[in-house]
Amino acid sequence: MNFSAPNQFAPDPNLKVFLNGHIVPLAQATINVFDHGLLYGDGVFEGIRAYGGRVFRLEAHLQRLAESARAIRLHIPMTPQELAEATLDTINANRITDGYIRLVVTRGVGYLGVSPARTGNPSVFIIASQIELYPRELYEKGMAIISCSVIRNHPNAVSPRIKSLNYLNNILAKIEALDAGVHEAVMYNHLGYVAECTGDNIFVIRKGVVMTPPTAAGLLEGITRDAVIELLEKRGLPFKEINLTRHDLYVADEAFLTGTAAEVIPVTKIDNRPIGDGQPGMITRQLIADFRNLVNGRG
Ligand code: PMP
Repeated sequence: MNFSAPNQFAPDPNLKVFLNGHIVPLAQATINVFDHGLLYGDGVFEGIRAYGGRVFRLEAHLQRLAESARAIRLHIPMTPQELAEATLDTINANRITDGYIRLVVTRGVGYLGVSPARTGNPSVFIIASQIELYPRELYEKGMAIISCSVIRNHPNAVSPRIKSLNYLNNILAKIEALDAGVHEAVMYNHLGYVAECTGDNIFVIRKGVVMTPPTAAGLLEGITRDAVIELLEKRGLPFKEINLTRHDLYVADEAFLTGTAAEVIPVTKIDNRPIGDGQPGMITRQLIADFRNLVNGRG
């Protein structure tokens, strides 16, 4: 696959973006080339979603953003309340009721050289737009994924719990997936256990027990993951946070991925092996319905 070919992507020029305290037209929402977010991936972000005019679990996203920032010693120049208001202002300015929100905080403009001590004024920007991560029909048919050779960041390097602007680890894994003709890849950790996919958490079901790796396996503590765990508990379905191996994926009866952009999507094939009978499983379909009700305020 050629990743340098020109593409058709053209953001809507009428988009309004929140940038450092103001909502401005897209053309004016520019970041300085000396910003360390751009030069070094030095910054943090959140991917958030609005359903029916309401932002789903905004508080949890702002909490995770604060924790990511704290972990990299980045001071966010706005309070959580101000960030919440700016998020709502941005979706309203774009008349979005159902959409995807990207909230980014960069280290700010600085000297060349990695030192954050030589930067100032972190930048905050918020984009409210749309996202379609995977083709719609895969939510019905299920998706094929692969195991990839790129391991997830070692937790003592850049912790996968930090939602940082440095996604190269995941991008390398995504390239492997795309080269294999699928949309996602399972990333294993340095011990060989399943961590997560490039932009989603993973769950498997075997003999009626739903399982997902613990955060100590080196993964982002997904807000959708948490929501799905709550749904499982509500239904009284047996659930375990447990280290999983490649073998556990191969012998699963069902599997699915969770993420703000992905929502809940069935996985029906891994490394070219069908999962269960190769169709989205019953528990997975039930959870997809439960998740839909939850985000639409009927949960
Ligand atoms: N893992 C990674 C690496 C992610 O980037 C994401 C978010 N796209 C997730 C998991 C899912 O997290 P959430 O449910 O909070 O979107």
